[in-house]
Amino acid sequence: MARGVRPNHATILEDEGPREECAVFGIYGADEASAHTTLGLHALQHRGQEATGIVSFDGKRFHAQRGVGEVGTVLNKEDVIERLVGHAAIGHNRYATTGEGAVHNIQPLFAEFAFGGFAIAHNGNLTNAQALHDRLVHGGSLFQSTTDTEVIVHLIARSMRSTLVDRLVDALHQVEGAYSLVALSQKKLIGVRDPLGIRPLVLGRLGDAHIMASESCAFDIIGAEFIRDVEPGELLVIDESGITSLFPFAKQPSRFCVFEYIYFARPDSVMEGRGVYEARKRIGAELAAESHPEGGADVIVPVPDSGVPAAIGYAAASGVPFEYGIIRNHYVGRTFIEPTAQIRHLGVKLKHNANRSMVEGKRIILVDDSIVRGTTSRKIVEMMRSAGAKEIHMRISSPPTANPCYYGIDTPEKDDLIAARLDPAGIAKEIGADSLAFISIDGLYRAMGKDGRDNAAPAFCDACFTGDYPIRLIDRDNKKAAKRDPKPIA
Ligand code: AMP
Repeated sequence: MARGVRPNHATILEDEGPREECAVFGIYGADEASAHTTLGLHALQHRGQEATGIVSFDGKRFHAQRGVGEVGTVLNKEDVIERLVGHAAIGHNRYATTGEGAVHNIQPLFAEFAFGGFAIAHNGNLTNAQALHDRLVHGGSLFQSTTDTEVIVHLIARSMRSTLVDRLVDALHQVEGAYSLVALSQKKLIGVRDPLGIRPLVLGRLGDAHIMASESCAFDIIGAEFIRDVEPGELLVIDESGITSLFPFAKQPSRFCVFEYIYFARPDSVMEGRGVYEARKRIGAELAAESHPEGGADVIVPVPDSGVPAAIGYAAASGVPFEYGIIRNHYVGRTFIEPTAQIRHLGVKLKHNANRSMVEGKRIILVDDSIVRGTTSRKIVEMMRSAGAKEIHMRISSPPTANPCYYGIDTPEKDDLIAARLDPAGIAKEIGADSLAFISIDGLYRAMGKDGRDNAAPAFCDACFTGDYPIRLIDRDNKKAAKRDPKPIA
């Protein structure tokens, strides 16, 4: 959640709210549904470590546990699991970025409607949440959190439709943006993906129980069977009578987030029929084909862990040996999530150390998945230099990240993206590398099994690289307009 917590602004967009980078999990028809959910959330911990929660239903009552921290500290306790009774449960992990997330924002959210209790968990980011929020507040709605997800809850409450599913569909027809949702009522587990399918959601089975989760690695941990991806725009209802699949939106070509393949998803997950690990290796091979340094190199060094599969692919394609020239300390969180620039700077040192014997006197190719602010690359290059590397060629398995994501991946504002300011030669200079190359956008699409990017109908959302945003950015545009034409204070 919340990449820019700016408490002096009273809007939900800029306050603690909606830039969620999260995981969802839901299970229906299992003994110990909460224990399974806890394990599923544990496997999805890479998608969010700031806060976690579960809501379960035991046939009569809902039970909830939410807390700040990782699954291991908040949920994974016998007394907690014992209290979360029920055959059905949903859970959520929230991503940590800057600032403190408020406790009232921890999902799953829960509401008591006229028709009964309802819990909801969301991965993604709505792009018109602020506009809807303002309209709802004007109409008398009282919000209890600052997450965009609560907008959906209020829209359900106000819907004039009669069934829960119809009310949810009615609500979703009003929201825009990226969402993979799981929701739980007294009778049903519901899962839905936005019409473009920007964020992932998969369906699985464990005996008679059905499961939905952000990634398939959440099925592996509990020995569940992967069935298929929930389709873009598909709404699945799981209840006593089995599974019902609905397509309540006008059909559109899907635009799954390509950055899930590059960085965000776990490498052992399968998305759209592609193994994430293999996809990363293919990207590495394309990168080698496109930009191997003319003078050659002695060793391929991944920036661990996220650069590893691409570096393996690069090494295999180029014939240059792969070596761990950097050792990662696994007991430090992701550098990216440290709260201040100073700490982020320190975090890289805490997290990585040069493996001198593998780099000293060598021409190395450093492979990482992305450059965002440039902080990691600068530190790693410096570290390799002081370990005696003779030449440092940085190769990046994504195109330059020049645009912020508004659909659920945490990226800084455009001004803080180094690739929005500098071209690759300029970035190379700034990070101190002898050369720097990013995979081309067509190379990335080739690695994904396409001929290149079809500019008229791209197969993925790649807005962070191309600036081609497939869903309107209503809140962002309203904010820009308000800046240009500030209304006088009444
Ligand atoms: P930076 O140091 O700001 O250039 O960030 C680049 C590093 O952060 C890379 O090593 C990536 O593996 C990682 N990274 C890229 N995007 C994200 C993200 N959205 N959340 C967390 N880490 C990221």
